[in-house]
Amino acid sequence: MKTTQKLYEGKAKILYATEDPQVLVSYFKDDATAFNAQKRGTIADKGRINCAISTHLFQVLEDKGIATHWIDSPSEREMRVKAVKILPLEVVVRNIAAGSLCRDTGIDLGTLLESSLVEFYYKNDDLGDPLLTRDRLLLLNLATPEQLTQLTQLAQQVNHILKDFFQQCGITLVDFKLEFGLDPQQTLLLADEISPDTCRLWNQSETDASRRVMDKDRFRQDLGNVETAYQTVLDRVVAQSAKI
Ligand code: UDP
Repeated sequence: MKTTQKLYEGKAKILYATEDPQVLVSYFKDDATAFNAQKRGTIADKGRINCAISTHLFQVLEDKGIATHWIDSPSEREMRVKAVKILPLEVVVRNIAAGSLCRDTGIDLGTLLESSLVEFYYKNDDLGDPLLTRDRLLLLNLATPEQLTQLTQLAQQVNHILKDFFQQCGITLVDFKLEFGLDPQQTLLLADEISPDTCRLWNQSETDASRRVMDKDRFRQDLGNVETAYQTVLDRVVAQSAKI
């Protein structure tokens, strides 16, 4: 893919400009970080696997009417995306209690939430990505009240589609993080990536709390076999995509 200059290098991806100002290229790296980059490493082939999983999931979502930044994926690690202004928000959807929800509230790991939870975190490494209240989000002008309503609805729609899709893959979608951007017409587009780096995914054919983990918690908690787990997610996503 012909790119021009590097615009931004993040923890897991590099963003390049192209000759078309409306189009960027997102390059998926093998680098992995956790705990606000205090833990660093690489996961062999992660870039290829996450690019492929994200590609399939963006297509599934587009087919169901969700507007995303994805255009196409011209190579194994590259995605052409629409240039958007990313909102500094991490939109987290939870179906089952895990991670920071358990840490912050004392709810037991694995508790099924009666209705899914949509939460907003401030995407700001210096502040450690804090959980926002609605009022703090508005105070900081991170989105308008209308955008906030739309983001919540979009996050719930995405959850509905992905939960069903992963269910067909024999995988439980525990929680995940989304990012959104605004295109030049100020339309909200789903952006970034959707992969085992950004979702908690539990293998339904395993009951053991460690063995069932198919996502970045394997890296965070040094559970081993990270690549194998990511590749298994990809294999199941590919097989399920072929059926629809
Ligand atoms: N997540 C993410 N990037 C972040 C923070 C969270 O992709 O910077 C994802 C994480 O992988 C999980 C979900 O969002 O699927 C909820 O994460 P949580 O708030 O429980 O935080 P964590 O346990 O990762 O600290």
